[in-house]
Amino acid sequence: MEPINKNKRIINYAGELITNKQSESREDRYLSKGCIWVFRVNRNWSRDAHVGGNDARFINHSCKGNCWIDVDGKTKTIWIRASKLIARGEELTYDYNTEGDKIIPCLCRPGCKTKL
Ligand SMILES: [Zn+2]
Repeated sequence: MEPINKNKRIINYAGELITNKQSESREDRYLSKGCIWVFRVNRNWSRDAHVGGNDARFINHSCKGNCWIDVDGKTKTIWIRASKLIARGEELTYDYNTEGDKIIPCLCRPGCKTKL
């Protein structure tokens, strides 16, 4: 609806705070449906947007996104911030930087070889 200035905090990636151990079975379950809902916060913690998530969970991956991720280590809040001046109507994307199964093909541009 409006341009977004570089580095602005756009939205935080909401979701239930769970341990990475807890997240394993959930991630497998979501991935079998082609979804990535769990965001790794750090070595110990993740947020599961399938439980208590907000609109941030609908932001797609791109290998060259227009947003970057800024994690507040104390509150384990994941901020999605603009990495450049984003024009009105431009789709928001960021690099998911996933590890693991890598079975979902990236659609960021024709011929992208990345898998998530
Ligand atoms: Zn890509």
